Amino acid sequence: MHLARFPRVKLFPAPTPLHRLDNLTRELGGPEIWIKRDDCTVVATGGNKVRKLEFLIGEAKAQGATHIVTQGAVQSNHVRQTAAVAAMFGMKCTALLEHRVETNDRDYLGSGNVLLDKLFGCEIEYRPGGIDMNAEAEKKGVELRAAGQQAYVIPGGGSNKVGALGYVSCAQELVRQADEMGLRIDRLVTATGSAGTHAGLVVGLVGENAAIPVLGIGVRLPRDRQEENVFRLAEATADYVGVRGGIPRSAVVANCDYVGTGYGIPTEGMVEAVRMLGRLEGILLDPVYSGKAMAGIIDLIRKGEIGKGETVVFLHTGGAVGLFGYTGTFEQAA
Ligand SMILES: *Cc1c(COP(=O)(O)O)cnc(C)c1O
Repeated sequence: MHLARFPRVKLFPAPTPLHRLDNLTRELGGPEIWIKRDDCTVVATGGNKVRKLEFLIGEAKAQGATHIVTQGAVQSNHVRQTAAVAAMFGMKCTALLEHRVETNDRDYLGSGNVLLDKLFGCEIEYRPGGIDMNAEAEKKGVELRAAGQQAYVIPGGGSNKVGALGYVSCAQELVRQADEMGLRIDRLVTATGSAGTHAGLVVGLVGENAAIPVLGIGVRLPRDRQEENVFRLAEATADYVGVRGGIPRSAVVANCDYVGTGYGIPTEGMVEAVRMLGRLEGILLDPVYSGKAMAGIIDLIRKGEIGKGETVVFLHTGGAVGLFGYTGTFEQAA
């Protein structure tokens, strides 16, 4: 794999920190839990979408785009990061926000990510829940082009083979970093949603021959559909970067037991995980992704499915801005 073949803009200083969570490890009585801090990717308070945007905006610039179109839920971290990067490059940004979570909560609808979208000068349009949002974004792109704009459409979560390159790069970075530290990684765990993070990591680790298994903790779909989405994108990404031999289906593993009632709907485990990481480590997780992923890790450790002798790396994908869209949930829990 040779990522310099692809257009890219540099958005944050790499590598992001990799460190041990001593207090959480002690609290749970082992395994050794480490954290890869992709919540520290600088732009717009950071998060995993910044890595994808290095390649997506790289391609957009190479194509002469002046207007970025994307989509997400109302509290989308992806939209917030995209709006900020568009502003950095003097591009316009239009975001379609889906009412994916049914709520009238004032904070959910007006604070957190959506407040920051507006500060970044993003044009916002709303859509009802349950429609094909990527098709809506494509339609918007066609409309803008007809009006003479150079529009570049980024799918939800930045999850296509171009965006996934950001996580191929992260996998390379993590392996190099762990090797320099003498850290042997038994398992990498990440939240998995629109699939680009999970797929990119799998492709990067297979391409590096690292033999580090990735566990994705789902936040939306049932396991079969999530794994299918990740596998399909991993295959396309592997083909795009030229990983010979393709991706074994067995390399894609998701656990979707921690979604709860649905996407963006709080669970008890998520609230416990967010509070634990805050109190024990001074680290902020988010209610929609990293909080549910950490709830999964904690439960799998308690059940012995993640063994005491293992060294586990949790990829922190960011999203803490979303906490301000869920103030009621955490006030009740305090
Ligand atoms: C988008 C997002 C994820 C999921 O990443 P995908 O590439 O969409 O699967 C995880 N955590 C946070 C905080 C996110 O914003």
